[in-house]
Order: sequence, then structure tokens, then C-alpha cells
Amino acid sequence: MATFTHPPDPELDDRVARIDPAIDLVAEIRRLLHERDAIFLAHYYQESQIQDLADVVGDSLALAQAAARARKQTILFAGVHFMAETAKILNPDSVVVVPDLRAGCSLADGCPAADFARFKAQHPDHWTVTYVNCSAQVKAMSDIICTSSNAVAIVKAAPRSQKLLFAPDRYLARWVIRQTGRDDMVFWPGTCIVHEIFSAQEIAALQVAHPGARVIAHPECDEPVLALATFIGSTSALIDHVKSSSTREFIVATEPGVLHQMQKVAPGKTLIPAPAQGNCSCNECPHMRLNTAEKVYLALRDLTPRVEVPEAIRVEALVPIQRMLDFSARDRTPPAGD
Ligand code: SF4
Repeated sequence: MATFTHPPDPELDDRVARIDPAIDLVAEIRRLLHERDAIFLAHYYQESQIQDLADVVGDSLALAQAAARARKQTILFAGVHFMAETAKILNPDSVVVVPDLRAGCSLADGCPAADFARFKAQHPDHWTVTYVNCSAQVKAMSDIICTSSNAVAIVKAAPRSQKLLFAPDRYLARWVIRQTGRDDMVFWPGTCIVHEIFSAQEIAALQVAHPGARVIAHPECDEPVLALATFIGSTSALIDHVKSSSTREFIVATEPGVLHQMQKVAPGKTLIPAPAQGNCSCNECPHMRLNTAEKVYLALRDLTPRVEVPEAIRVEALVPIQRMLDFSARDRTPPAGD
């Protein structure tokens, strides 16, 4: 797993330890989902057991949209904090709970609101395009939110005379610049600790061992990795590509949790997780992997921890999110997130 140490949470550890070992966890989760009038949303990067228990598995925006459509009293969001926050922004009347409140994101955590405000102030005449992997406060300061699948279309649609600022992922920004020719776009220098650690050298060695395999990659990866890829896209796009392509073997450069859904939609294909530098298991997101079936059960049973967004920030953050949803509806590009 990527090198990251979370602060201890002895209270949560104690609650997990006190779960009655005799209970049928899966049956209890299903019973509680019904009892709480809840929808269970899980991101593609969650462990397989969680994905198989969820009502909907998808990327961050698709999951928030699913929550909005569901009109449930409770949303259980197994992903990371900014995703649950987005669900709360779109569904203020629902109780939104997460298995582990410590599940953050290096991109969101690396772009504090106060620093972002200063960065914006240095570029006062710029229109702010912000990747969904950011806090509600940063969203509230943005002109439009984007995801990895609609970022290129959104930047392309901006008038050429309009100066642009992109945050918080620098690799996604550079990829968007290459796709759009907007080399005047300034960007926040954030990175994803998972996607930046893939090794182009190790991937190239794998290609030699698997000459029929195609490399596919998420645009949060660094340029040498993207240069090896025959297809670059969001998690949803990568899954769709594996399903529809005639290629039988893929080297997949994104969080390996996604391989579970790829294997489901394309059972006959060979999927090789791209190795990280030094061949460690750093390609697993340490935030996503905090979530477990036990913590899912506790979140549903106790309706805690809850994700809350102050109303003034929620109202402001909703504007750029809605702008993106409206843009994507017009563009007919299904929005898809991290
Ligand atoms: S994989 Fe990267 S971008 Fe996605 S949640 Fe983890 S740290 Fe954030």
C-alpha cells in the first residue's frame, strides 16, 4: 500500500473488536440496509467483498448521482471522504455515513482551502476548473467541477480567450493540456500518492514478458506511464474499454480494486495490475483500504460516523457541481469520477 500512516482510532478499533463473532455479517448488513432505508454505494477501488455487498458500484460522481436518484433516508458511502461529501452536497436531507472517517485522499488533503484561496487570488481573471477530488470548501471556490472523463470536454468548451486554472492534480492537468492544446492553463501541483507511484520501467519489463498485453492507464499517472498506454481514461472508461476491446490481455495502471469489476464484465480476459516502484503493493490506496465489511456493519448499525457539510458551503459547492452535471447532460458525456 502507498506509504501513508493514518492517526490511530482506538474507539473504532474497540467497536470492531466487540462485534459479536457469531453474527452473520452479510445478513446483518442486508437487514440494516432495509431497516435504515439505506442505499449502499461503493467505489471501484474498494475491496471485492465490499463491492459485492453494495447496491451500486461506480466512480464518485456516478455514485453521488445514484444517491440523488435513490431518495433514501440513509446513504452508506464506502469510498473516501470527498466522495461522501459530494453525496451529502447533492442529498442534504439524507444521513450520509462512512465506514471510516479517516479515509481521505492525497489530492484533496494536498489542496487546503486557505492555500487554494491564495492561489486563486494570484490568478484573479482565471476561470477555475476543479477536479472532483477536493474538499467541499475548495469546490465552493470553483467555477466548475470536472471528473477525469469530462475534464477534456469542459476545458475544450471554455472560450480560448478565457484564462483557466486547474486543480488539484498536476498529472491530470498536463494530460488535459496535451489533449486540448491549452498550454496557458495554470495548475495546482497536487498528486495522487497511488497513481504517481507506478513504475514505467517495471511496466515496460512486463510488456516484454507479455508481448500481447496492452497498457491502459488512469490520467492521474505520471507522463512516462501514460506514454506507454494505448488507452487512457477514468475508471469507468477503463472498465468499458476492457469489456469492448478485442485485446485479451491488459496491464492496468490504476488502483487494483478496479480489477474486480473488470473481471466481472470481461471474465475471459487476463488483467495484470501495473507494478509500483520497487514492486511494493503501493498501488493500493491506503485510504480506500481502511474500509472493511466490519466497519460497514458498524456504520449502518450505529449511523456513525456521519459526513456533514456546513449549509453555507454546501450551497456554494452545489453550484459548480450542478454546472458540471448540466454540461455533461448537454455534452451527452456520462460524468465519471476518480
Ligand atoms: S487513489 Fe489517489 S486520488 Fe483516489 S482516493 Fe486514493 S489517494 Fe485519492
